[in-house]
Amino acid sequence: FLALAQPGLRRLRPYDPGHDIVALRRRFGARLVELGGNENPHGPSPRAREAILDALGQLARYPDPLGGDLKAALANKLGVDAAQILLGNGSHELLMQFAQAFCGPEAGVVMSRYGFAVYPLAALAADAPLTVAEALPEGHPMHRGHDLDAIRAAVDERTRLVYLCNPSNPVGTWFPSADLERFLASLPEQVLVVVDEAYAEYVEVPELQSALTLLPRFPRLIVTRTFSKGYGLAGLRVGYAVAQPGLVAVMERLRESFNVNLPGLAAAEAALADEEHLAWHVEQNRIEREWLSTRLRDRGLYVHPSQTNFLLVDFGRDATPYEEALLAQGVVPRPMRGYGLPTCLRISIGTRSENQRLLSGLEGAGA
Ligand code: PMP
Repeated sequence: FLALAQPGLRRLRPYDPGHDIVALRRRFGARLVELGGNENPHGPSPRAREAILDALGQLARYPDPLGGDLKAALANKLGVDAAQILLGNGSHELLMQFAQAFCGPEAGVVMSRYGFAVYPLAALAADAPLTVAEALPEGHPMHRGHDLDAIRAAVDERTRLVYLCNPSNPVGTWFPSADLERFLASLPEQVLVVVDEAYAEYVEVPELQSALTLLPRFPRLIVTRTFSKGYGLAGLRVGYAVAQPGLVAVMERLRESFNVNLPGLAAAEAALADEEHLAWHVEQNRIEREWLSTRLRDRGLYVHPSQTNFLLVDFGRDATPYEEALLAQGVVPRPMRGYGLPTCLRISIGTRSENQRLLSGLEGAGA
């Protein structure tokens, strides 16, 4: 059947989540320490849990196809119009659909090396040519992060869509808003830019403001966010994009009517309202990120700067033995072979006891 598929799809390798997490859960039960998915180890706000329980009574009904209440809550929080918001079954769905809507054999995609793994899938699924710009070199403080000059140089008259990830997954680094502004101002008319802000809730450095502030001035800008990370709702699959109403209207043509499920809509709205829970989780994450990165650096490992809930750690040699030692202890990191980073593991920030398990697992492997 592959021969019957469109050409891009023939070359596409499906998204690889790293490990068979279900088998690992079966094997280790509650002892398993899951640090491979950049999830929130504290879980969602208690208010979201209550909203989910309330929603159980309505499960025989379809969800609101427009997601009106969640859009209104988001619009209010972000200071945008509800018509600027597009809801997705996770931001993953939206990232795929932007390419589907706007790209094709004559309308290509540009991304950075080490950009999020879904971007090349989106390009292939749309049968669009993909150009990968080199990342920042070794020695640069944001090594392996996005090089906006290189990305700009990769854009040509065939480019329709640029995917940027800020802060970046899997590297954790970021580029300043001022650089993004210059980049956007330099682009030709036909180019749309997605700024994927999946980790926005964790950002604390002043030079990185959300790209949302640039939306009024750059009509072809799209900002994507998710409830899977800071809000702790990865299992419910709720993401969103913010863009010009006209662009959202195009995307609505493609959207499946009930793409966000009923408990997901309710939980996301409740989670959004609980700013205290989010602030507490972000603070815990910051404390643990500092604690863990200090200890990893003390062991002589290169730890990329991070404004996210994970660390990219470079072992300076094949990371597979470290990965295997961790797995044997029931600690799950994310291998980076698929990203072309075989000497690295990506490690999500856990609770203190989870992070301790990680460190002792690495110690057992000689790191
Ligand atoms: N963008 C980035 C950069 C991510 O890291 C992730 C999750 N790993 C996503 C998008 C997708 O998140 P979701 O589909 O859960 O919203």
